Amino acid sequence: MAVAAAQYTEMTDEQKAITEMVRQFADEQILPNAEHFDHEDEFPQDIVDQMKELGLFGVTIPEEYGGMGLDLTTYVMIVEELSRGWISISGIINTHFIGSYLLMKFGNDEQKQKYLPQMATGDLRAAFSLSEPELGSDVQAIKTTAKKTGDGAYEINGQKMWVTNGLRSGLVFVLVRTDPQAEPRHRGMTCFIAEKEAGVSENTGDHAGFNVPPPLKKMGYKGVESTELVFDGYRCPAENILGGEDAGLNKGFAQMMDALEVGRANVAARGVGIAQRALELALRYSQERRTFGKPIAEHQAIQFKLADMATQVEAARLLTHKAARLKDAGERSELEAGMAKLFASEAGRFCVEESFRIHGGYGYSKEYEIERLYRDAPLLLIGEGTSEIQKMVIGKKLLQQHKI
Ligand SMILES: Cc1cc2nc3c(=O)[nH]c(=O)nc-3n(C[C@H](O)[C@H](O)[C@H](O)COP(=O)(O)OP(=O)(O)OC[C@H]3O[C@@H](n4cnc5c(N)ncnc54)[C@H](O)[C@@H]3O)c2cc1C
Repeated sequence: MAVAAAQYTEMTDEQKAITEMVRQFADEQILPNAEHFDHEDEFPQDIVDQMKELGLFGVTIPEEYGGMGLDLTTYVMIVEELSRGWISISGIINTHFIGSYLLMKFGNDEQKQKYLPQMATGDLRAAFSLSEPELGSDVQAIKTTAKKTGDGAYEINGQKMWVTNGLRSGLVFVLVRTDPQAEPRHRGMTCFIAEKEAGVSENTGDHAGFNVPPPLKKMGYKGVESTELVFDGYRCPAENILGGEDAGLNKGFAQMMDALEVGRANVAARGVGIAQRALELALRYSQERRTFGKPIAEHQAIQFKLADMATQVEAARLLTHKAARLKDAGERSELEAGMAKLFASEAGRFCVEESFRIHGGYGYSKEYEIERLYRDAPLLLIGEGTSEIQKMVIGKKLLQQHKI
């Protein structure tokens, strides 16, 4: 059940056409199959193959590299529709999208030519790795190191944590410490484009020393793997420093922070998508379920819940589009992306919980879709920076802008 209010946005004809196409894909291919893949915790290969055919791995990659060349605003609209179907599906393209953003913005010509065409088709998929076992929010505390060796290559050692698409990706954009003495610490960090064999746990040959332990077991966000990565003497050529050695050495932190802005608009879109779906389920169930002689939708307490949910969905969507439009206009959007991520991920959690309550006992049953949403929604409060971290970013930016 689509909600009419969701259709009013300032969309171009192209945006309308593509979001309608993705919505239909979600209705026909994702929603009917998500329950199976979620229960089995199985990678949705058939759905991913269809996404490749639709070109969804190359939405923002320029046409000259075989992508669609669309902007971030259109991308977040697509992510909303995919996440309305199942957030694990959007998870498969999200870190890939961050990787392609990093290449487009900071990569040199050779790197773009080498990777973007295969990334546009989805034949080569990317992951994005900051977090480690002992850190997530405090990115500057990264311990994984890369040291230059006699032949000019860098040797990477250390352990990464929570890498979405960690196993099936063929490229990992990984932030490591290259200058342990640097002060401030962020000036000693570099982003490497670490190549490996997709789907292989213990790499050999050129990729020896890059290992992927078995996927982490999770409460929700099933189907897409989250893994640790273990670098044990993995050798990465200097040309795989993002932007090249001259331009990219010790510049990784700023590159990754820039990418996190688009990553946050992207997680915000996922919050809108899951909130929208929770609202749709609540609207349907509340008109079907009867208590005290009438549909529960006729009780004012339930209508108030629906009203709060719909208002949050709309507000979250508008904040998300604003953050994306600013970035498309070439402006930094730290503040707006932080607000969108904070509000939309909390709106996702809120709407899912309200919809769960409206479902009564059935919301607790695996027979009902809301049960999956209830396990999936909390991830959005964590990934790309927790709500507390978003508030820190927003507060700091406000004080910078309004310094007296
Ligand atoms: C399913 C899943 C997928 C993920 N995918 C990826 C991925 O692909 N790549 C990647 O790099 N990472 C990924 N992550 C990691 C994610 O980004 C981190 O979990 C997140 O940034 C939080 O870090 P942490 O878990 O270390 O929590 P911590 O940083 O240890 O924080 C713990 C708590 O303390 C709070 N806190 C921390 N510092 C402050 C402060 N200064 N003030 C107030 N409160 C504070 C936090 O908000 C949180 O509530 C993923 C995580 C999950 C669960």
